[in-house]
Amino acid sequence: MVPLLLVGLVLLLLGFAAAAAGFWMSAGVTTAYNACLLTSPPAGFCEILLSQEAAYDAIAYIGVALVVIGVVLTLVGALTREEARPDLLGPAAAPWPSPPIPTQSAPPCPVCGEPLTWIAQYNRWHCGRCAQYR
Ligand SMILES: [Zn+2]
Repeated sequence: MVPLLLVGLVLLLLGFAAAAAGFWMSAGVTTAYNACLLTSPPAGFCEILLSQEAAYDAIAYIGVALVVIGVVLTLVGALTREEARPDLLGPAAAPWPSPPIPTQSAPPCPVCGEPLTWIAQYNRWHCGRCAQYR
């Protein structure tokens, strides 16, 4: 099974890093472009900065997309793991073992020797002759 949760978290981190770096560098290029306009650069020099800004913007948008995909994969992975959890527990737990209800080999009464009767309601043996629980 592909660990979607892990893939989602990695994509989320990578996307966040790419978005942060892209926006940060794009802002830096914008600052450089504004500073460039104040000087008297060769023709077309400042336009190169603009193309770089577009590239950094693309990186930032790709990063944002990766973050979105990462969040979706993380959620799907978490939900999938939630659904798979019962399978990890294996078959349903066996029911509580029923109390012994011997019918053939009833022990004799220690006092009178009469076969005892199992009273499941009180979880004890009962002697009919002595009229007492054993
Ligand atoms: Zn008895």
